[in-house]
Amino acid sequence: MRRAVVCGAGGFIGGHLVKRLKREGTWVRGADIKEHEFAPTAADEFLLLDLRERENCEAALTVDGGPFDEVYQLAADMGGMGFIHSAECEIMHNSALINIHMTHAAAEMGVPRYFFSSSVCVYRDMQPGEPEMTEAQAIPAHPDNEYGWEKLYSERMAMAYGRHHPMAVRIARFQNCYGPEGTWTGGREKAPAAICRKVAEAEEGGLVEVWGDGTAVRSYTYVDDMVDGIYTLMGSDLEGAVNIGCPQYVTVDELVQTVAEVAGKRIRIEHVAGPVGVQSRNFSNARIYGLGWRAQVELKEGIERTYPWIEEQVWAGERR
Ligand code: NAD
Repeated sequence: MRRAVVCGAGGFIGGHLVKRLKREGTWVRGADIKEHEFAPTAADEFLLLDLRERENCEAALTVDGGPFDEVYQLAADMGGMGFIHSAECEIMHNSALINIHMTHAAAEMGVPRYFFSSSVCVYRDMQPGEPEMTEAQAIPAHPDNEYGWEKLYSERMAMAYGRHHPMAVRIARFQNCYGPEGTWTGGREKAPAAICRKVAEAEEGGLVEVWGDGTAVRSYTYVDDMVDGIYTLMGSDLEGAVNIGCPQYVTVDELVQTVAEVAGKRIRIEHVAGPVGVQSRNFSNARIYGLGWRAQVELKEGIERTYPWIEEQVWAGERR
């Protein structure tokens, strides 16, 4: 039986990835500094470990009859734009340490396949309508934030280990990902979850605050599509970084309107000062399309699957 470790299994995408690997018949060990907040883990075994520590990375990968066949590295000090702008030191320090120690441990312990979760935050800011950027165009580098710089560094480190060890390295640059069982409040939530929460909290006809002027262009990938992309990429021979994203581009205001429509609420948008991030992103998915992968879930359908879960969390909070 194939055996895998998912680092960051107590988080949003890691939690969903564990479920997918289990469905595919893999024996899964999850590792995270915390348990999953929203669902019991589907992993066969779950280790609570601070992966900034070298010994803990080794412990995560130690198993009888080893090594593990695959390591999926999704652990990161992570959040939406508000967190990314306020916690620059934590991101640079904590996520780099996790990646330094985990990549090294995996290579030293003979893991044959290693996945690293990078981000489209490695790209520079773009204007709406600019030609698509390919993976190679991340260099010369000019990410908008330190989170993107850490991801670029960790990509390069993983590739270096892949060149010098018999370890196949697969790197995905995730676009914004959303879905149920992700952080939806507390300051680390990303835009789709934050907007769902604000709409769920709003009265009929009420105000919803949106950071910036609402014109920033984004695209959002539903978590099942993202997990499918990870699984497809890990099973492939595609080397180097690979963008994974849904090609449906919307403004932030259009995202809010979509959520309001799904909620069946009339809302008014109030634009307020706040960290927005880049104006636009438009990057090529040609590499992952070459493997036959396509996003299956459009934004409205994804919000229809996400909003009820967040609304239920909001109501549960109000009942407490
Ligand atoms: P998440 O915050 O839900 O999951 C990350 C997990 O890492 C958390 O459970 C957290 O507890 C764990 N972690 C943090 N520090 C740790 C430590 N010291 N030791 C052990 N575990 C630790 O985030 P997510 O949205 O599931 O993201 C997963 C990966 O995908 C991250 O690497 C993230 O940077 C990347 N990514 C996510 C998105 C997105 O839109 N969600 C976009 C681009 C890239």
